[in-house]
This record gives sequence, structure tokens and C-alpha cells, in this order.
Amino acid sequence: MPSRHLDQWAGWAAPPSRAGWAPPGPPGRLAGGLGWAPPGRPGAWRAWAVALALLVGVFGPAGTAAMVRDAKKAVARARQAAQADLAPRRPSGAGGRVCPVRAAFRLTPGGAFGACRDRCTRRHKGLDLFTHQGAPLVAVTDGRIVNASPSDRGLGGISLTLQAADGTRFYYAHNQRNLVGRGARVRRGQPIAAVGRTGNARTTPAHLHFELRPPGHGPVDPAPQVRRWCR
Ligand SMILES: [Zn+2]
Repeated sequence: MPSRHLDQWAGWAAPPSRAGWAPPGPPGRLAGGLGWAPPGRPGAWRAWAVALALLVGVFGPAGTAAMVRDAKKAVARARQAAQADLAPRRPSGAGGRVCPVRAAFRLTPGGAFGACRDRCTRRHKGLDLFTHQGAPLVAVTDGRIVNASPSDRGLGGISLTLQAADGTRFYYAHNQRNLVGRGARVRRGQPIAAVGRTGNARTTPAHLHFELRPPGHGPVDPAPQVRRWCR
């Protein structure tokens, strides 16, 4: 995700209540949620003044003003992007759920719900979301981990089941590792595992096998929900 890069932008860009623009330099500190703190090195401001004087000398006042304007625009764009990225993912769909994979992923016909498995002796009960090994998996909703397999065994390998307050269950399989254990209470968007190739995915590219079980039902196709939550 680009958030780390954008966080750096957000870190040293001053909020609108200040000058509106801060020089590139040591990142400002985010002071305990109270807002922005200036760069820790007092010399940074003097160094910037010297650099500005040099720019004016080389490019003239008009050229320097244009450069400063462009830089301010770039910072404003970066700040907007950073804020959009840091904002909570828009809750959409019933129950305000979020995408289980926090990375770009792709779906394939072979990974669709109901696809043949083992020469059609059984059907695929979930949806496969192919992405990179180690990609963060997050809780799609607030709930409790009602089942967790921390060891690589069976078809699902390292896996876990999240249950929402309404009884809906979400199964995450083939994980590289679990970050929470059985009984844990989790919040929507909380990282709970990482994408892997455990279980019978050891011969396939890394992916999340994701199942959706409404209360009192067997698995249903989660594709409509995943498409909505992962827009
Ligand atoms: Zn699968």
C-alpha cells in the first residue's frame, strides 16, 4: 500500500492553520494525536532560509515564486492523497464490512465459488483472492475468532474463522500465519493474518480462500460482497 510513502508526506506537511507549507527536511513529529510538531532540528529552518536565498539568486524572484507555488500545489495534492488513504475505509454493504485483503488481488474462474475440485468430486466452497505472499488480511467486521488452526494441516492449512455478532461466519484459509488466536475479539479492519500457501495451496500461487456462511447456512458465494467491500 502507498500509505507509508504518503505518511511521510503527511508527516512534514503543515496543517492549514499554519503557514500552509513546510520545507522538505526532517519529518515533523505527530505529537500524540494533538497535531503537528515542527522538525526537531532547529537548524533546518535556517538551512531552508539559506536555500531560498540561493534560489532567488539563481532563478530570480519570479522564478522562485513559481517554484514555490508548484511545490505548494504538490504538497496540497500529497496531503489530500494521504488523508484519503488514512481515512477509514468506507463502510459499505450490510453491517458496514470491509475488504478482507489489504492489497491488490485478482479473481480467477478456477477460484470461483462452486468451481470443480478433485475432478468434480467436490465443489469449491469459497472464493480465491490471489495476491502476494504475506499480504495483510483484516477482519471484515467486528467479531470474535471462533476457530483457528495455527498449524499447517488439512485442506485449509493455517486458517481462522471470524464470527460477527449476527452469527455470520467468515473463513480465512491458506494463511502464512495467524496474528490472533481462538477466542480473540477483533475490530473491523484489524489485521488478523497474512496471505500464504498453506494447506492444499502449497502447489498454487499465494491466495486467500475466503468463505462466507450466513447464520444457520452452509457456505454461499461471497463474490458479490467481496466486489462491494473491495471497490
Ligand atoms: Zn479456495
